[in-house]
Amino acid sequence: MDLRDLYQEVILDHNKRPRNFGVLEGGSQAAGHNPMCGDRVSVYVRMEGGRVAEARFTGNGCAISKASASMMTEAVTGHTAEEVRGMFSTFQEMVTGKCEADDEKVGKLVVLSGVSEYPSRVKCAMLAWHALQAAIEGASKTVSTE
Ligand code: ZN
Repeated sequence: MDLRDLYQEVILDHNKRPRNFGVLEGGSQAAGHNPMCGDRVSVYVRMEGGRVAEARFTGNGCAISKASASMMTEAVTGHTAEEVRGMFSTFQEMVTGKCEADDEKVGKLVVLSGVSEYPSRVKCAMLAWHALQAAIEGASKTVSTE
């Protein structure tokens, strides 16, 4: 099995069995909408001592958007708002092809590096991240990729 097949496998698995899926009470929340594809996501985050104590999401969309949200909630837990901002930038650079896919920098999120070959899917992959940023900043609003 080559790396590409493995990545595909992981994405499909997260799509089928999303992690941290469901409403989170007592945190802040922000919704995201990607009109290009029809993806909708709500991201919930609870901060504790300046760190992400818990992140969850709900919503409906394509496999990329769901897998990205699922992996994001796992990746950001335990990190500070500042670190999450850094992860956002690195992830964005990776899916837009501005930097090499590097699992030392992005960890498991590297499985989404293939998105850089499909510019129309970048918004799918970024949607949950935009919503997470808004939720962390405490802006309870709907972000749009447009
Ligand atoms: Zn999508």
